[in-house]
Amino acid sequence: MVDICQRAVDKGIGEIAITDHADYIEYKPGDEFYNPAGYFEALEQVREQFDGQLTIRAGVEIGEPHRFADRVDQLLDTYSYDFVIGSLHWVGDRLILSSDYFEGRDIEDVYRPYFEEMLKMVSVGRFDIVGHIDVGKRYGFDVQGSYDVTPYEEELREIYRVLVQRGKGIEINQGSVRRKVQEPAPNAVGLQWYREEGGEILTLGSDGHQTDAVGYCLETAIDMAKSVGFTGVTGYQAREPFPLSFA
Ligand SMILES: [Zn+2]
Repeated sequence: MVDICQRAVDKGIGEIAITDHADYIEYKPGDEFYNPAGYFEALEQVREQFDGQLTIRAGVEIGEPHRFADRVDQLLDTYSYDFVIGSLHWVGDRLILSSDYFEGRDIEDVYRPYFEEMLKMVSVGRFDIVGHIDVGKRYGFDVQGSYDVTPYEEELREIYRVLVQRGKGIEINQGSVRRKVQEPAPNAVGLQWYREEGGEILTLGSDGHQTDAVGYCLETAIDMAKSVGFTGVTGYQAREPFPLSFA
């Protein structure tokens, strides 16, 4: 956390949320690893250390919040988060974060079930913004090549309408920019649809996982947001959104 915060300061970033994963589906047997008490302890330390230099929000990325409502309630009612990402990594018992998911499958059979499941998630899940809306393209690239979002316009617009109705948002996720597909999630086309459906809440996510990815290509993400009409992004404090204008 210290390294992440130092990296943010070095990059001229004034405010970040550190969003460890809270996953309730075990990726490997026995590996439910989320430790909120440890997280908040470490967070207090960096908040003290970087006081006056960096605003550090308490965040979490919850996987499949719609499938684990009781666990999510328990977590969010126990700990004081500023910001909660809801993410979909699994479609049923299949993990989309792997090229195995794409092997031997028609491209339609890959993304449609994912977006169907995401519609369920955004309709009921407890979160502030949806993480990496079309994350599969990162992992499908090796099998199916570059990704075309246009066949999923209706699905995505419906997801966006539900989010807008519920006062929730999306992020521009830079994790896929660093990978072979080399575009954020969503890309400019997807972001434009969100805007057209009335989307106003937007955050910027490095999906860092490693220190040197903090703030990766942040300026490109900001330019993309501006190009579809955003004049700023959204910050969160105690789960309440507030505007952060572009300089
Ligand atoms: Zn994720």
